This record gives sequence, structure tokens and C-alpha cells, in this order.
Amino acid sequence: MLAESANLPIPPTALPYRAYFRCFRGCPGEYSLYEVIYTCPTCGGLLEVHHELEPLQQRSAEAWKQTIEKRVGTTTWPYGSGVWGMREWVAPDLADANVVSMYEGNSNLYWAERLGRQIGVPNLWIKLCGNSHTGSFKDLGMTVLVSVVKQMMARGSAVRAVACASTGDTSAALAAYAACAGIPAIIFLPQGKVSTAQLAQPVANGAHVLALDTDFDGCMKIVQEVTQDNSIYLANSMNSIRIEGQKTVGIEIVRQFDWQVPDWIIIPVGNLGNISALYKGLELLMDLGITDRMPRLVAAQASKANPFYQSYRNGFAEQVRLRAGTTLASAIQIGDPVSYEKAVQAVRATNGIVEQASEHELANAAALADLTGMYTCPHTGVALAALFKLVERGEIAPRDRVVVISTAHGLKFTGFKAGYHEGSLAEVESEHANPPVYLPADSRVVKETIQRKLGE
Ligand SMILES: *Cc1c(COP(=O)(O)O)cnc(C)c1O
Ligand SMILES: [Zn+2]
Repeated sequence: MLAESANLPIPPTALPYRAYFRCFRGCPGEYSLYEVIYTCPTCGGLLEVHHELEPLQQRSAEAWKQTIEKRVGTTTWPYGSGVWGMREWVAPDLADANVVSMYEGNSNLYWAERLGRQIGVPNLWIKLCGNSHTGSFKDLGMTVLVSVVKQMMARGSAVRAVACASTGDTSAALAAYAACAGIPAIIFLPQGKVSTAQLAQPVANGAHVLALDTDFDGCMKIVQEVTQDNSIYLANSMNSIRIEGQKTVGIEIVRQFDWQVPDWIIIPVGNLGNISALYKGLELLMDLGITDRMPRLVAAQASKANPFYQSYRNGFAEQVRLRAGTTLASAIQIGDPVSYEKAVQAVRATNGIVEQASEHELANAAALADLTGMYTCPHTGVALAALFKLVERGEIAPRDRVVVISTAHGLKFTGFKAGYHEGSLAEVESEHANPPVYLPADSRVVKETIQRKLGE
């Protein structure tokens, strides 16, 4: 029965698959994905979505690969989405009518040949997750969270709105997907600590943007209080439903390599949800017999906010928590990461590495990449700087196939780019500054200048 359905272009949606929340640390108990629950009632730890493997394993690896591949690029609802093209592995009992999608995912994975040759790793690939609706890979998780909320509301739940505390990409993604669904969104921001760009996205998408007279941690406290009575659903990282969407990025990379596994995947990390998600997706491919090995995962941190790096250096003997310093990589400026335990598993199980990058290193790495045609955000700069270090140390070998996950679009970070080329960024010496040349409208001067520039 199942094998037959794999031959249809789009398999039917009456699925025998089952997924539920359970405690990541192993306490007993199963909770519906449509229940308002964020942490384990027994130990207070994180939940994870568990997919029952047996029914999934009834179908052959070959059949799964064909099914997923057939859905790529179709407009048939909801399979045009890179996330919902894997719906059986994400949230199997989500009804078509409740999917809230803007056809996210399926972002380009491209061969960064010129940069790769410059640094001695010609088989270098960049996964451009910032090429997405709100300009970051947070869209992948938010389509799942908002869809789950829509299904809860359709089935009579008391939930009336979604909320998060964030200064950047999470609030942009939540506001956009909530607007797409017509669900009210409430965004908590620390007053005066938010740039125009960070404010503009949720404001434009009609979210209720509440700028509080406190810092980020203060906003986090308020949002947790406000979401206590279950009428407002919490969309922060603590909510592990988002991981189910975020995990598709690793699966998508493997699919894009014709189901081959790269040697390394490098990702910038803050709250540590995404590296956990990457691991979870890749582990599922192993469980289904689609792949037979893991890539080595590299978690890249900004030196200014490096608790995970410090924990790694002490052999994960204890979780380091600190007060994060200000970094250009603002989306990973986090001192007390929520998904620490899951990320430790991801690094350990893949023989992974945690590396760090200073402000100077991340900005220059981003600029060097831009000179080969990219337009990198500061977080991608952190990942690239980690790559350069691992190549220099000989950890990454010249013939290895390496993927760097570019997590946001550089266009969200105009201040970073302009500041770099003006040479005005704190603690950064701009080694590749390329400021504009201001000239009179005089063709002789212009010609001389061009001669000089091309001769440089
Ligand atoms: C959220 C985010 C990250 C890090 O993901 P975590 O799950 O917090 O580790 C990296 N880069 C960008 C652009 C992000 O928005
Ligand atoms: Zn527990």
C-alpha cells in the first residue's frame, strides 16, 4: 500500500504517521503537538518532537527520495514549500487547510568556487538560507509554528494570538507568518535598543509591537508571564515545534547533493536551536536508511558571546552562562542559550567542533566573501571565519566537501556593510575596504582615476 502511493506524484494526505512532544531528557509522558506546552512538566527541561519511526520505515529509502524529489518546485499546495514537501517528517497530522506557508525553503546551495580556491578548499558550498521571505532561515521554523497554531484555533483552542521577545529575525518571521494567516502577533522589543531595520519588518506586517522600558532579558520575562494563561502562544526558542521546520535545512542540503552527505556543515550559533535542528534532520535520514553517515558539524560563535565555545573548551563538563557582549552578529548575541543540551548532543554525535570569531575576524571574512560575489550577513561572517581557521589548522582537508550555512540576507545589515567600508566599525580593521570615490564631473579626472584603479 505504502510502496504504491510513492508512485503517485503527490501522495494522499491521510497519513499513518505519528509525532508528539516528549521530554528531551527522557521523563515519561507524551503531549500532543496541538497542546499548549513548552517544557517538561516533570523536570522543566526542553521538549522535543518525536516521530514514531516504525511507520516511516515501512517505506523504502528509495520511495522516500522519489516522493520528496517529485514535490520540489511544484505549486500543488502545500508541496511547493521546502518544509511541507517533507510534511510526513515535520508535522504529519497537519491538515492542508491549516498550513501557513509562503513556499519557504528550497533555497539555493551554490558552489563558491572562487572563495573556495582562495582559501584552499575548492569544494566549498554556500547554503543561502537568507534568500527567504523575511530574509533569514527563521522562516523555516515559523511556518510550522504558525501552522500548528492555526490548526489549534480551527479546532477550538483558547489561543487568540502568538507572541515573542526578539530584536531581530524571529520577530520578523513571526510577524510575517502570523499576518499571512490572519492571526494577531505581539512582539516585545527593548525600547531604544532596536534599529530602524529591526523595527520595520514587524511594524509593516501589522504586528502589535510593544517597545518596553527594559532590556532583552526583561522582555523575555514579560512575554513568559503574558503567555502563561494559554490564550497567547509563545513563539520563542524554548518552543521546540520550530525545530521541526528548521531541521529541513540539513535534509535539503543532502537532497541537493543527490542524497550525498557533505564532510562538514558550518553554522553560526546563538540559542543553539538551529544546530540541534540540523542534527535532528540528518539523524532522521540515517534512521530511514537514506544516508549512512553524518557530516561533522561546526558551531561558530562570536567571541563576544561565546558560552558554547567555552563549554566546549571545558569538554562540556558544565554549561557556561555569561552576559553577552555587544557583537555585530546581533542575532547570536546570547549568553544563556536555551537549547544547550540538544546542541551538546549534536556536536558530540557528529565529532563536531565549536569555533569562535572576533569582531575583526567576522567582518573581514564577510568582506572577503563579498569580493567573490556574495553579500554576507555578520553571522555568515562568523561561520566563514571559523571555516578559515579550521582550514588553516588542517582540521578541514583540501579535498573535503564543505557547506557553510548563510543564515540571513546581507541586505538586512546595511549599517554593517557601510560601516565596514567606511572603516568605522569598533574593533575592526577593514582589510578589504572599498569606499566610493567622490570626483568632480570632469572626464579627464575620471579617466585618470579609472586608469589608476584598474592598474592597482
Ligand atoms: C537565529 C539565528 C542564528 C542562530 O540560531 P540559534 O538557533 O539561535 O543558534 C544565526 N543566524 C541568524 C541570522 C539567526 O537569525
Ligand atoms: Zn523531563
